[in-house]
Amino acid sequence: MLYGGIEAGGTKFVCAVADEKLQIKEKISIATTDPQTTFKQVFAFFDRYPIEALGIGSFGPIGIQPDQENYGHILATPKEGWADVDFLGQMKQRYKVPTAWTTDVNAAAFGEINNEVFEGISHPEMGHLYIKRAAEDTYQGTCPYHKDCLEGLAAGPSLEARTGIKGEELPLDHPIWDLQANYLAQALMSYTLILAPEMIVLGGGVMNQDHLLKKIQQQFSELMAGYMETPKAEDYIVRWGLPNESGLIGALLLAQREREY
Ligand code: ZN
Repeated sequence: MLYGGIEAGGTKFVCAVADEKLQIKEKISIATTDPQTTFKQVFAFFDRYPIEALGIGSFGPIGIQPDQENYGHILATPKEGWADVDFLGQMKQRYKVPTAWTTDVNAAAFGEINNEVFEGISHPEMGHLYIKRAAEDTYQGTCPYHKDCLEGLAAGPSLEARTGIKGEELPLDHPIWDLQANYLAQALMSYTLILAPEMIVLGGGVMNQDHLLKKIQQQFSELMAGYMETPKAEDYIVRWGLPNESGLIGALLLAQREREY
């Protein structure tokens, strides 16, 4: 029994085939170019295996309501050529196997916690929350929809746009890290107040920075100011356990679950 998994991001598609124990047999990374070229390579990869179920975690926003026409489509993405592409339909037409469909973020969370995917009228987009901007911060923000939402103020590209230095090359004592930690801590406080989760797992390239996690934990405790009781920040806010892999593992787990249904 073989499962297929796709972590479809805006810059690359990671595709893998795994056995029933979810041991990966082969994995490839394809640059996300135009849909036609990208899907051709995705098909070339999966055509070589008799997969029996598929899991897809796609960049969003995506249509997730089965009774709506845009189900399985990528919606209003600024990524050129990808708006309204019927991603799920193309995969199902080609492979005719049970296929799980969710966002790359949901798949990554599923990979980490192996629980249920959280969905409502759409998938949550917690990165686009508005946060209180620091008085000295005049940066306009990179979100094409809201400009200075959390995504616009604190995602990877904003670090480079503010400082002119790539995130991974920024010195540890650069003042931008305190600002970054403050914005992330504000968002985590909102998530905690709304959802009261048992733990918060942070992923993404920026979280490969040790010192940032500590700053976020400190700022979170200061901002929360004891209002809601949570576990100690060091135990409550943690880093992903499957660095750079959780999206793909989640997609494979979703494929496995889809096959069992
Ligand atoms: Zn936004």
